[in-house]
Amino acid sequence: MSKIYEKAPAKINLVLDVLRKREDGFHEVEMIMTMVDLADRLEMEELPRDQIVLSSQAGFIPLDEKNLAFQAARLIKERYGVRRGVYIHLDKQIPVAAGLAGGSSDAAATLKGLNRLWNLELPTEELETLGAELGSDIPFCIRGGTALARGRGERLESISPPPQCWVVLAKPPINVSTADVYGKFRVHEVKEHPSIPRMLDALSRQSFPDMCASLGNVLENVTLNRYPEVRQIKDCMIKSGADGVLMSGSGPTVFGLVSKEMKVARVYNALRGFCKDVYVVRMLT
Ligand code: ATP
Repeated sequence: MSKIYEKAPAKINLVLDVLRKREDGFHEVEMIMTMVDLADRLEMEELPRDQIVLSSQAGFIPLDEKNLAFQAARLIKERYGVRRGVYIHLDKQIPVAAGLAGGSSDAAATLKGLNRLWNLELPTEELETLGAELGSDIPFCIRGGTALARGRGERLESISPPPQCWVVLAKPPINVSTADVYGKFRVHEVKEHPSIPRMLDALSRQSFPDMCASLGNVLENVTLNRYPEVRQIKDCMIKSGADGVLMSGSGPTVFGLVSKEMKVARVYNALRGFCKDVYVVRMLT
């Protein structure tokens, strides 16, 4: 029986800007997203019966139709009339509800994996369109690399990757709901919008200092004001010498970009003093 594997990497937002609230309730965004080398691993195997079965070593995520990987399997199966079953094992490494798009990346990996397992031969663009039905970040997770995302996040343009560096990720022990953060966000209260052209320019020149200087996320203040532990992590990263620091997505994970390896240990050790979930990874370029 054939078995396949897919990696589902986490994403960070180098820039997250919200332009306005739309009539359909979604927010019109402009984001620059890139993948980092922290990933869930999915194993997919054909089942002799027509059923989707999900398992995971992580005890704290749903394994039924609430799981985005399950929803992705059901969607592709129904849309293309596949009458076969699949067993999916999810080795969860990305922290949950962290602002790292873990669930979206699992859904993306499921679509890509089942496209292979069931020999559907769907082009990437079709998988991206399918993924957008389940979540705004899923098309980006299918495409990977680095992209400028517009609309509600589903309209993508691939762009130059960031210069290689260390990425220190720290997640305080709280779960933040993206819907809650957007619910509390007021676009007219934003004092300064981050500049997408400035970040694009920094990336095209592969300038690490300019990339750090162009980081920006308009949702950051909503989460920082609500959760002092997120601010504490941000301050600690800055004080311990990270070159650029920003909250990812709606949080609560904060990432620090560090160019020199000798500085990484200092940032890591400073955070480990009070935060359990700290990861040191590389950009996926
Ligand atoms: P985003 O950055 O896209 O907002 P996130 O990283 O903040 O995503 P997720 O880790 O995707 O958040 O989890 C958000 C919620 O989705 C959790 O409460 C969890 O119960 C549910 N969920 C559904 N499927 C998954 C999955 N495969 N992995 C993790 N969480 C999942």
